[in-house]
Amino acid sequence: MRRRACVIGAGPNGLAAAIVLAQAGLQVDVFEAEPTAGGAVRTLELTLPGFRHDFGSAVYPLGIGSPFFTSLPLSEYGLQWIHSPAPVAHPLDDGTAVLLERDLIQAKSSLGEDGKAWSELVRPFVEHWWEFASDVLRPVSLVPKHPLLMAHFGTNALRSARTIAGRFQSQRTRALFAGLAAHSTLGLDEVLSGAFGMLMAIPAHAVGWPIPHGGAQSLTNALCGYLGKLGGKISTSSRLENIEQLADYDLQMFDVTPRQLLALAGARFTPSFRRRLQRFRYGPGAFKVDYALSSPIPWRAGDCLRAATIHIGGTFDEVAESERAVRAGSHPEHPFVLLVQPSLFDPSRAPAGKHTAWAYCHVPNGSMEDMLPRIESQIERFAPGFRDCVLARKVFSAAGLEQKDANLVGGNIGGGALDAGQFLFRPTWRHYATSDPAIYLCSSSTPPGGGVHGMCGYHAARVALSRIS
Ligand SMILES: Cc1cc2nc3c(=O)[nH]c(=O)nc-3n(C[C@H](O)[C@H](O)[C@H](O)COP(=O)(O)OP(=O)(O)OC[C@H]3O[C@@H](n4cnc5c(N)ncnc54)[C@H](O)[C@@H]3O)c2cc1C
Repeated sequence: MRRRACVIGAGPNGLAAAIVLAQAGLQVDVFEAEPTAGGAVRTLELTLPGFRHDFGSAVYPLGIGSPFFTSLPLSEYGLQWIHSPAPVAHPLDDGTAVLLERDLIQAKSSLGEDGKAWSELVRPFVEHWWEFASDVLRPVSLVPKHPLLMAHFGTNALRSARTIAGRFQSQRTRALFAGLAAHSTLGLDEVLSGAFGMLMAIPAHAVGWPIPHGGAQSLTNALCGYLGKLGGKISTSSRLENIEQLADYDLQMFDVTPRQLLALAGARFTPSFRRRLQRFRYGPGAFKVDYALSSPIPWRAGDCLRAATIHIGGTFDEVAESERAVRAGSHPEHPFVLLVQPSLFDPSRAPAGKHTAWAYCHVPNGSMEDMLPRIESQIERFAPGFRDCVLARKVFSAAGLEQKDANLVGGNIGGGALDAGQFLFRPTWRHYATSDPAIYLCSSSTPPGGGVHGMCGYHAARVALSRIS
């Protein structure tokens, strides 16, 4: 008899886990609550007909740089990556922008007086991306596969973003590093925030920050297509309400966060494991807007049209203040805004001559605050006339995000806070395993955490397979 496994949730980690289990010969059924698979990797017509918006993630440095995804024949299932000429631009008040060039030699020259320091910071890891990725995209280990490389990374990993930015002479380079580190939702004076800045910068040079042709959904569709080829089945609009529905399965894999796992399967766990899951902490939320635009965004710094991703927030100190406020539970007056403008590089996203963009800022978990005026005044600061280009917008508060994907608890897009404790023990010291030998967790609430790389699902499925065989 073939063993049977089920996966609850068809986000990238659920699909990755399902693929590993199917590759190992198990019969796999995936149950997804929403009408479309993908979780925070979906493309939907959220504004006007013909405008295709990425509901969640949009840019995939860790997708193209994922050791697991690159082992799969995803291009045969329609996945095509598109690189904007520069991965990231960071506009400043003087009407110019700092650009992070993909090529490290070009980046070194464009960052001028800081080019050498930038290159010294990232080059060892850029040159050994695949070794680095295989160590960094898994649970922290005392015995890494590449000990010298990881020891070198470790010397920076515990530093704050402010400490690392202190190596740069120019305020422009410091601002650029702030924008990269602020993805972490940590305060820029907190330990680990520097490591996150590096984790964003390194793949920019090593593999790029690409967008998928046709949108995020193309990545999900490719994963679903390959899973189908392996015999896996996906049922959408199938929200699991009770674990008793899964009695027929030898293995139950959950692409959900600890709070949801407790609600669904808490009765199956020991009291001490339940207590550990209850202690799991969620991070700040996001307030997001999708735009249908009549034209490209009128950036004062024309160079911003070379990058798919724009970091809006001004100087290092301004970005740091925005993130500090969110960590302190308040709403920044001048939020750090992450903006993606995919249709400049992929015309399939909007009707001819029209454009799409998305923008979000961090807010306290569960926030109900309307951040739209603050987000738009930050965009107008660097792109005067932006509001005149808006044909339609769709706003998601932190709670609105959770309504479309139950894993975005309180609008938290990373599957839980990524502070030092939860970096090491995510969500508990058992990582993917639970106190029930048939139940495993594979979402971004497990190592290596948020981002679209599928490595949580990959490692969870490998651990599960090692225990049932
Ligand atoms: C606005 C936003 C922007 C982001 N930008 C980026 C980016 O540009 N690049 C990047 O790498 N990452 C980005 N991320 C983060 C990234 O999308 C997530 O880290 C990633 O999707 C996590 O994958 P997952 O499989 O763990 O969870 P999810 O993608 O959240 O998928 C979980 C799935 O489980 C389903 N589910 C939950 N409960 C049940 C149930 N009871 N029954 C059945 N199904 C259930 C959900 O419906 C969902 O489909 C972004 C996220 C958001 C929200």
